[in-house]
Amino acid sequence: MSDLLIVTGASAGIGAATARMAGFNGWSRVVVHYGSDQAGAEETAAMVESMGAQAYLLQADVSKPKAIEKMFGKIAGLKPGRIGLVNNAGITAPTASFEDLTPDRVAQVFSVNVFGAIEVARQTLVLMRNWGKGGAMVNVSSASARLGSPHMYVDYAASKGAIETMTLGLADEVAKEGIRVNGVRPGLIETGIHAKGQAPDRLAKIGHTPPMGRPGTTDEVAEAILWLLSERASYVTRTILDVTGGR
Ligand code: NAD
Repeated sequence: MSDLLIVTGASAGIGAATARMAGFNGWSRVVVHYGSDQAGAEETAAMVESMGAQAYLLQADVSKPKAIEKMFGKIAGLKPGRIGLVNNAGITAPTASFEDLTPDRVAQVFSVNVFGAIEVARQTLVLMRNWGKGGAMVNVSSASARLGSPHMYVDYAASKGAIETMTLGLADEVAKEGIRVNGVRPGLIETGIHAKGQAPDRLAKIGHTPPMGRPGTTDEVAEAILWLLSERASYVTRTILDVTGGR
C-alpha cells in the first residue's frame, strides 16, 4: 500500500501517539512533522519505523505560511498515494480572564491554531487533487469549542470553534470528490500542553471532573482519529467526534 499519513505536531502528545499507531492501522508511510522539538520528532519517527511504516521527518513552523508551503513542496516529491491528514499542531495560552486577552496573545494563538491549520488543510487538498488518489482529513479541535473555557482561555476556545466551522465548510466543498473531512474534540488529555500553557497542575485539579471521572490518554484520542481516517468510517464526513469521557 502506498498511503501517506501526514501528522502535524507529531513530536509530542496526541500527534506522536497517532503517528506511532499509524502502522497498526494500515498506513505504510508517515510524515512526522514538528515545529521545534526535533528530538521528540526523532523519537516518534523511530517508533513509526519500529511498527513497520516508513517515516519522513519534516520541520515547519505552522504559524508561517511560507514554511508550510516549503514543507508541502517536499511532500509533493514523494510517491503519490492516498493521503490522510491529522491537522493537530496547536498551542494553548496561560490561564487568563477575558480582560487579559491582549491582541498579541490572541494573534499568536490564532496564527498557529487557525491560520496554520487552515493553510495545512489547503495545501493538503491541493496535493490530494494533484495526486488524484483521494483521502481524508481530521482536524483536532477541543471540547473548549463547546464550553468556551471561561476564566481559562476563551481565545483558545474560539480558535477551536473556528477550526470546527472550517471542518464543516471544507467537508461540504470536497464531499463529492470522495474526500472526507472530520474533527475530533479531545477533552482533558494527559499531554505536555497544559505545562506549556503554564498550567502544569490542570489535570491534577480538574482531571476528575468528566463523567468518567478521569482524564483521557493520547492513545484514546489517536484511536478516534485513526478510525475517522480509515475506510471503516467511509460514510462519516462533516462530523466532530467528542473524545471527552462524557464531558
Ligand atoms: P502537545 O503540546 O503535546 O503537542 C502539540 C504539538 O504541536 C507539538 O508537537 C508542538 O511542537 C506542535 N506545535 C505547536 N506549535 C507549533 C508551531 N508553531 N509549528 C509547528 N508545530 C507546532 O499538545 P497536545 O495536547 O498533544 O495537543 C495536540 C492538539 O490537541 C492541539 O491542537 C490541542 O489544541 C488539542 N487538544 C489537546 C487537549 C489536551 O487536553 N491535551 C485537549 C483538547 C484539544
